[in-house]
Amino acid sequence: MTPPASASSPLLQLVGLSKSFGKLDAVKEISVTLSAGEIRGLIGPNGSGKTTLFNLISGFLKPTAGQILWRGEEIAGLAPHRIARLGIVRTFQLTSVYGDLTVMENLLMSSHLGNRSGVLAQSLQLPSARAEERRLSERCREILDEMGLTELADSRAANLAGGTQKILGIANALAADPILLMLDEPLAGLNPAEKTALMEKIETLRARGLTILIVEHDMKAVMTTCDRVTVICYGEKIAEGTPQEVSRDQRTIEAYLGQDEAVHA
Ligand code: ADP
Ligand code: MG
Repeated sequence: MTPPASASSPLLQLVGLSKSFGKLDAVKEISVTLSAGEIRGLIGPNGSGKTTLFNLISGFLKPTAGQILWRGEEIAGLAPHRIARLGIVRTFQLTSVYGDLTVMENLLMSSHLGNRSGVLAQSLQLPSARAEERRLSERCREILDEMGLTELADSRAANLAGGTQKILGIANALAADPILLMLDEPLAGLNPAEKTALMEKIETLRARGLTILIVEHDMKAVMTTCDRVTVICYGEKIAEGTPQEVSRDQRTIEAYLGQDEAVHA
C-alpha cells in the first residue's frame, strides 16, 4: 500500500493534452491538475471528450500531443496494466464486470491487476506469492463487505441486477488497489436510493485517502459531492472551480442549455 500523499501535492497533471481521431479533435489541449485526496467532477455534454480523457489517462489511447504526469513522471503511452499498477484505476461507462465469473472471482481477478508486488514470484509459486494470494483474497472480502456484496459472493455477475453490477464494477476497481479511482458515469442506471448510497460510499473512499475523478451527468450528485469540477465541451476545457463557481459560469450554463435544446428538439 502506498501511503496517502499530503492533501495539496499534485497527483495527476494533464498538460496540453490532445487526442484527434482523424479530423475530429476529441480532446483539445486540456490542462488539469488533480490534488491528492480530492473528489473532482468532470462534466460536459455528450460527446465532449470525457470518456476519451479517461482512455488517455488509463492508457487505452495514446495522446496526439501533451503530457500526463503522475506524481511528476510522464506516463502517457504506458500500457493500461502498467498504469493500473501505478494506482490509476478506472471503471468503464458501460460495464466493468466479468459476466461469467462469480462476484468473488471478479474481485480476485481485478486484484491481480493492481498487485504491485512480484509477478515473477507468483509465476514461480513461491511461498511469498502464496502469502500474497491470501492477503489479496482477504482484501477482496473486505471490499465485498464494504460495498454490501458479501451475500452475493458466489453469484454469477451476469445474473445480478443492473445497479448491483455497477456497484460490482466499482468493487472491482477497488480490488485493484487504486490511489486515483476514475469513475465513468457510475450512477447511470441506479435507482435514487442506490445513487445516494453510492455517493456516500464515494465520500467514505475519499475519507480513507483515495483521490476520485468522476464523470457524471447527475448534477445534484456532482454538486454535492465534488470539491472541484472541470467542465469540458467539444474537447475543450471551458470552466473549472468549486461547484458553486461552475454552476454560475456562463459558458457552462450555455453548454448545458445547448444540450437541453438538442435533447428536446
Ligand atoms: P463523452 O464521454 O464526453 O460523451 P467521448 O469521449 O466518448 O465523449 O467522445 C468524444 C468524441 O470523440 C465524440 O465525437 C466521439 O464520437 C469521438 N470518439 C470517441 N472515441 C472514438 C474512437 N475510438 N474513434 C473515433 N471517434 C471517437
Ligand atoms: Mg462518455
